[in-house]
Amino acid sequence: MRFLLGWVCMLGMMIAGETFASSRSVVEKPIVVILMGPPGAGKGTHAKPLGEQLGIPHISTGDLFRENIQNQTSLGQTAKSYINAGRLVPDAVVLDMLFARIDQPDCNQGYILDGFPRTVAQAEALDPRLKNSRVIAVNLNVPDPLLVERITGRLACKECGKLYHKKYSAPASQGQCDLCQGTLFQRDDDKEEILKKRLEVYRAQTEPLIEYYGKKDVLREINAADSPDSVFHLVLDQIAEPVARG
Ligand code: ADP
Ligand code: AMP
Repeated sequence: MRFLLGWVCMLGMMIAGETFASSRSVVEKPIVVILMGPPGAGKGTHAKPLGEQLGIPHISTGDLFRENIQNQTSLGQTAKSYINAGRLVPDAVVLDMLFARIDQPDCNQGYILDGFPRTVAQAEALDPRLKNSRVIAVNLNVPDPLLVERITGRLACKECGKLYHKKYSAPASQGQCDLCQGTLFQRDDDKEEILKKRLEVYRAQTEPLIEYYGKKDVLREINAADSPDSVFHLVLDQIAEPVARG
């Protein structure tokens, strides 16, 4: 019934010529979408178009670290050794960086989190900041063998960050971004031996967040093994009703 209500609201908005973003001008509470799931589940793939659809920024802690590494900041230097070992960057470092980002004015209407929180301690530290927001935690479920295939085939554009996959969403011209002609690269931590460690870390430290957000009654589970387009529609289905409710 709730899904039906969500779809009816969304269809109503579409018929009235409104996008999610414009409909949110009348909504009072900021919306925070927490995209969850193991490495390779599709968080980055869906976060960007979802942010555009909702008119709120997409914040990836992994991207923030990679920017710092590229700019050779001290934060980047600290993060690099953890990332390349497939381990989590310490909570205190992540929290300082994330809070500085969500305090920016473009987050006033809400934001999409991708790759954060990754520990229960991070989730607890975030909670006070979510008090006046509508929170939806969307968990993307994908079987392990598919995760390995997705991660080891992942390519990203150095310039604009667009994601590709060698097999599932290959660029038109090899090694070059379709959008900006930037060079595509494979992340150092996407090699199979590091991925194994990242999956172990996910199971031990991040997976408990499913129960954490389940208990708060904000969790939506999605089967994310299908094509990117159909998964994106499932994600939209899950957030349509909370967005429409405001
Ligand atoms: P995450 O951010 O959760 O680590 P990504 O969004 O970066 O995962 O996706 C990992 C890789 O899998 C990328 O190369 C992406 O193009 C590909 N991918 C994402 N979702 C799908 C899907 N539904 N089907 C096939 N490939 C996908
Ligand atoms: P991602 O781009 O989300 O796959 O993240 C890449 C790497 O950055 C992870 O394997 C971690 O080493 C680090 N990282 C990103 N987000 C966090 C976080 N919330 N907590 C700790 N480490 C993180």
